[in-house]
Amino acid sequence: MKKKTKLIHGGTPQDKQTGGVSFPIHLSSTFKQQSVGQFEYEYARTANPTRQALETFIAELEDGVAGFAFSSGMAAITTIFKLFSSGDHLLISNDVYGGTYRLIVQVLVKEGINADFVDTTDLKEVEKAIKPETKAIFLETPTNPLLSITDIRAISKLSKAYSLRTIVDNTFSTPYWQNPLTLGADIVIHSATKYLGGHSDVVAGLAVTSSPELSERVAFLQNSMGAVLGAQDSWLLIRGMRTLGIRMEEIEKTSLQIASFLAQHPSVKQVYYPGLPTHPGHNVHYSQAKGYSGIITFECGDAEKAENLAVSLKYFTLAESLGAIESLISIPARMTHASIPNERRNQLGITDGLVRLSIGLEDPIDLIEDLNGALS
Ligand SMILES: *Cc1c(COP(=O)(O)O)cnc(C)c1O
Repeated sequence: MKKKTKLIHGGTPQDKQTGGVSFPIHLSSTFKQQSVGQFEYEYARTANPTRQALETFIAELEDGVAGFAFSSGMAAITTIFKLFSSGDHLLISNDVYGGTYRLIVQVLVKEGINADFVDTTDLKEVEKAIKPETKAIFLETPTNPLLSITDIRAISKLSKAYSLRTIVDNTFSTPYWQNPLTLGADIVIHSATKYLGGHSDVVAGLAVTSSPELSERVAFLQNSMGAVLGAQDSWLLIRGMRTLGIRMEEIEKTSLQIASFLAQHPSVKQVYYPGLPTHPGHNVHYSQAKGYSGIITFECGDAEKAENLAVSLKYFTLAESLGAIESLISIPARMTHASIPNERRNQLGITDGLVRLSIGLEDPIDLIEDLNGALS
C-alpha cells in the first residue's frame, strides 16, 4: 500500500459494530468484565479503543511494532527517557527542541541521568563522545531551528556497534516523508501537535517502537506514568492525520518556492532549508527522506529587523508551534528556544536575527508577496 492510501485506510478506519466510517470516540473510563479478569478493555489509562485506533495507525505509518499516544510531545519524550535510570548517559543532538533541552538539563540531571550534546551530523564526534555508561543517542533531523541533517542510518549503525538505542524525534519530517525505524532506529517520537494534527487544535505526542521487547517496556511505562492522550484528542488527531499526505505535498511545493525566493532576496543573509541543493545536508536528507517539510529558517540581520518583520506580515501569524494549515512566523531566540541559555544559543548559531517560518496551505503567490512587502 502506498503512503497516501495508508493514510486513508490505515489504522482502524471503521467502527465494526455500526459500520460507522469515522471511528467513534469512546469516552468510557472503565469496561465491564465478562468474568473476573476476562475483558478486551479494562481501564482507559491502560487502553482505550479510540486511543488504540490512533496507536495502531501511527505504528503502521512508521513501520513499527507498537504505537503509543501521549498527552503531549514532551509527555512522549519524558516517558521514553524513563527507559533510562540513574548513572546512565545519553548523547543528544545539538539544537534539539528547547523543551527537550530543558527536560534534559533541568529535570533528568536531577534523576542522575547525564547527557552530552553533540553534533550528530559528525559521526566521528559522536563516536568520540560515547562513554561506557552511554545508553542512547537521541536526535532530531532536520533539527529545530537550523535544519541540520543527521544520517539516521549511520548513527543507527554506530549505536548498534556500541549496544546503544537510537531514538529519533521525527516531528519535522513526519512519517509521510521519513521513517527512522526502517533506517535502523529503535524508537521514533512525534510531537503530533505539529504536522500530524495539522490544524493547531490538539496537543499530543506519539512514540513507535521497533521490537516487541521495547514495546512491552514502553507500554509498561505509558501505563505506569499515565501521561496518556484522551479519547477526544485521539479522535481529532486521527482526523488530522488522514490528510497528512496532501498537506505535506502541498506544503513542500510552496516551501520550495518561498525558500528560493528568500535565497535571492538582498535583505536575507542566509536561508536554511534542506530542500535547497545548496543546503549542506541536502543529499543526506534526500537519501533517507522522500521530501521536505515546510520549515524555513533565515537570518535577517538583527533582533530589531526580525521583530519588525514578525509584526508586519499579513498572512504569517506570530506564534509558537509549526506544521499547521496556517503559516506561522517565530523568532526562535525569543520564543521556542528562549529556555536555552544565551551563551549556548550563540554557540549553536541561534542568533537574535534568526526567523523561522512554518509554511501553511495558503497560495504561495500571496505568501511571497507578503514576505516581499515586509522585507523591503
Ligand atoms: C513541539 C516539539 C516538541 C514538543 O512537543 P509538544 O507537543 O509541544 O509537547 C518536541 N520536539 C519537537 C521537534 C517539537 O517541534
